[in-house]
Amino acid sequence: MTAQKIDGKDIAAALRGRIGAAVAALEKRHGKTPGLAVVLVGEDAASQVYVKNKGIATKEAGMASLEFRLAEDTTEEVLLDKLDALNADPEVNGILVQFPVPAQISQQKVIDTIDPAKDVDGLNPANAGRLVSGLDALTPCTPLGSVILAKETLGDLTGKHAVVIGRSNLVGKPVAQLLLNENCTVTMAHSHTVDLPAVCRQADILVAAVGIPEMVKADWVKPGACVIDVGINRIDAPEKGEGKTRLVGDVAYAEAAEIAAHITPVPGGVGPMTIACLLRNTLTAFCRQNGFEEPEV
Ligand code: NAD
Repeated sequence: MTAQKIDGKDIAAALRGRIGAAVAALEKRHGKTPGLAVVLVGEDAASQVYVKNKGIATKEAGMASLEFRLAEDTTEEVLLDKLDALNADPEVNGILVQFPVPAQISQQKVIDTIDPAKDVDGLNPANAGRLVSGLDALTPCTPLGSVILAKETLGDLTGKHAVVIGRSNLVGKPVAQLLLNENCTVTMAHSHTVDLPAVCRQADILVAAVGIPEMVKADWVKPGACVIDVGINRIDAPEKGEGKTRLVGDVAYAEAAEIAAHITPVPGGVGPMTIACLLRNTLTAFCRQNGFEEPEV
């Protein structure tokens, strides 16, 4: 059996289309458009690409995109002042600081300074706590995208055993919480888990968010499982030529696809969902700040 490939590009494009339609409808009705501010500190090449792509997607969805590029040597005080100004700006509904920030700036202070109502990355402890408490929260984008892929593929997730490998605040913990909210039985596995392959073999839904290339092998996968690979790892690819690299996930795709029923590829699986969910969070934040009914997207 070869698993069905879960096409994150297609699912993300459809979601972005629905968000764009919802934004247009809200603008027609209320004469207002959501605004997303993205702040980049420094010159990191990968971050510049991410920020550029976020700006393009934001505009494509009909939202206002505000980009702020600050110098590498920006002090923490200057960045936090900027965030205070964005918190107070009624045209800004969502704020995202592209991580990593330079060493002189505390990432946690940045997270703590963003108004939870505008925290479209969902990393502020207020949002993390609300998610755990089952309250309306802004939820980290990659976890939200991962769970949307599982739901689009399997439908109702009630009663499924989900195993999440990785317990970061950015991915593992919120994925587990979202799956719990979908009535899954959730096991969280991590670097200290004993006999990880045996734990993973219990999973109807296996989410890998580790950062180790192709760690999850075929014999870790329960036959018929749905595998969501969050990992993005760049490895050498001498077969493509000297000095060339390629992206792989945390799952050994080809062999796992022989056992699973559904599996996300890397690239083209969870990755494209992250920006789509950033737009979704911006739309959600906009509606909640203005007291508008939240459209189903
Ligand atoms: P992280 O380093 O913060 O966390 C990794 C987690 O993996 C930790 O909780 C750790 O306990 C666990 N772990 C480490 N070694 C392990 C082992 N040998 N066995 C089991 N568990 C182990 O990473 P993160 O920020 O959660 O990201 C995880 C992966 O997801 C990375 O590859 C990252 O690039 C990728 N990622 C992708 C997106 C996306 O848009 N698709 C977004 C964020 C992160």
